[in-house]
Amino acid sequence: MCVDSSISVSYPLGTTPACEKDAKALEFIEEMTNYCDNVQKNVLSEILAQNAGTEYLQQWKLDGATDRETFKARVPVVKYEDLLPYIQRIANGDRSPILSSHPISEFLTSSGTSAGERKLMPTIAAEMDRRQKLYSLLMPVMNLYVPGLDKGKGLYFLFIKAETKTPSGLVARPVLTSYYKSDQFKTRPFDPYNVYTSPNETILCVDAFQSMYSQMLCGLIYREEVLRCGAVFASGLVRAIKFLQLNWRQLAQDIETGYLSPKITDRTVRDCVSKILKPGRELARFIRKECCEGNWEGIITRIWPNTKYLDVIVTGAMAQYIPILDYYSGNLPKTCTMYASSECYFGLNLTPMVNPSEVCYTIMPNMGYFEFIPHDRSGNNDSVTELLDLADLEVGKEYELVITTYSGLCRYRVGDILQVKSFHNSAPQFKFIRRKNVLLSIDADKTDETELQTAVENASELLKEFNTKVVEYTSYGDTKTIPGHYVIYWELLVEDPVNGPSDNVLDQCCLAMEESLNSVYRQSRVADNSIGPLEIRVVKSGTFEELMDYAITRGASINQYKVPRCVSFTPIMELLDSRVVSVHFSPAPPHWTCERRF
Ligand code: AMP
Repeated sequence: MCVDSSISVSYPLGTTPACEKDAKALEFIEEMTNYCDNVQKNVLSEILAQNAGTEYLQQWKLDGATDRETFKARVPVVKYEDLLPYIQRIANGDRSPILSSHPISEFLTSSGTSAGERKLMPTIAAEMDRRQKLYSLLMPVMNLYVPGLDKGKGLYFLFIKAETKTPSGLVARPVLTSYYKSDQFKTRPFDPYNVYTSPNETILCVDAFQSMYSQMLCGLIYREEVLRCGAVFASGLVRAIKFLQLNWRQLAQDIETGYLSPKITDRTVRDCVSKILKPGRELARFIRKECCEGNWEGIITRIWPNTKYLDVIVTGAMAQYIPILDYYSGNLPKTCTMYASSECYFGLNLTPMVNPSEVCYTIMPNMGYFEFIPHDRSGNNDSVTELLDLADLEVGKEYELVITTYSGLCRYRVGDILQVKSFHNSAPQFKFIRRKNVLLSIDADKTDETELQTAVENASELLKEFNTKVVEYTSYGDTKTIPGHYVIYWELLVEDPVNGPSDNVLDQCCLAMEESLNSVYRQSRVADNSIGPLEIRVVKSGTFEELMDYAITRGASINQYKVPRCVSFTPIMELLDSRVVSVHFSPAPPHWTCERRF
């Protein structure tokens, strides 16, 4: 899609593009958002023409039609489970055009799960360029608001994760792993606005400790040049600071001696970091002085004094990390630049310096074809009625996002609930409200109510021989600990208190719950260390009655009252915590391997 030269761009008051390249990118955004509906019409027509010969589209008898009306009338709205048989065939080696006429280049593993495993999203090579295009728009927008970012570096903690292969040999990995390993990322041309402290080799090291250690070391070495600090999600930056708290002694020693710790065994990492690391007495002394007293307030601005903002997503489930980031950074601005998923990259934030509570994302209409199911807050969303287009949405209303992609997903429910806040030209700007059905999320994990219920049931099996039952439970994502962890409140019915379950049995119940949770949870526990051991807090008998009484005093209907399966409201937490009789933690990590069941 080329830039329309008749578009005139009006920049926010007092701002101008940083360079010619930025001006072009901003013009592109203006064009896409001015002609939102037309672009969407063309995107759908392109996708349908491209994939007309696929088995999936053929069955809906479009007969070559590429218009919206026929598409909407004939193609159903689907969920992952509806597509699973097609996806499984691709994974097993069927190379016929099933969902996409272009060859499937790899599977992207979403953090959403199905039957306990990450969802597999087939993708095609051309999607990488589309993602790259969206990335290329981020800095031109940021440069409007924060000048001078070409005068220093970005300290970004970026990681790859283990990948696996499908039975037919296709790679399956998270979308960011795929991006960081791509030529688009590895051999990106020099751009003064996108210079990172972390060399590619440190990002591409699959060992989580060595990758974090070497990235932190480089960040410390370049500390005065750092102008922005970030990670993809807030949980990643919080984890990096915790890493500094645990490893500053060794890091300072490496800097003092100019010799990299023997814990870093990866040859490529050693080679590239050794070129950067020089003996630096002064810097080592400074790091020790800042870290030795265990005062972590404002640590980001003390160590990296020229940081202008934190570049991390703090919308959605990540909002829980805002207080700790404010504490670490002395309230530096937090910018949420982008909204994306494994299925499709969606859009960007055109006013990145606003407060997290005001963040809106503008879906770029060139990325895919987007439809919206009006979302009913009262929960009556089972019957899907009419789906709306990007240009038809109304300010203030909530919608569930449905996508049709070049890779072959057709009318696929992503599961995100968005609210229209305003329009940029004719493109709606969305507040991210929440992910449907997610009860607990600490890092990339997304645990729903059914998974939690199954985990409680499986763990309760261990209580049977002690004539004990879990009569009620609820949960809480505790991010005051670093890493955060799941807390499950249990009210027990112990029929024979003399022979009730011991502490050891309840500890084992914690582990049994973890073993039952999905593979993203277990990977975060085992490989990434981004979630701490699960905790069960046993509460006094009668506590959940009190919880109901409390809800009723606040206006809940006695007939319709349901125990909330996740809590975060402070008075409720206080009530629960004041009734705790014993606390138990998982004694070991659950099982996880990067191999998956196909
Ligand atoms: P995944 O499929 O693992 O790539 O995760 C994608 C999901 O992460 C999206 O569908 C959202 O639920 C969530 N997500 C991505 N970007 C944002 C954002 N900027 N703010 C809030 N949630 C986000």
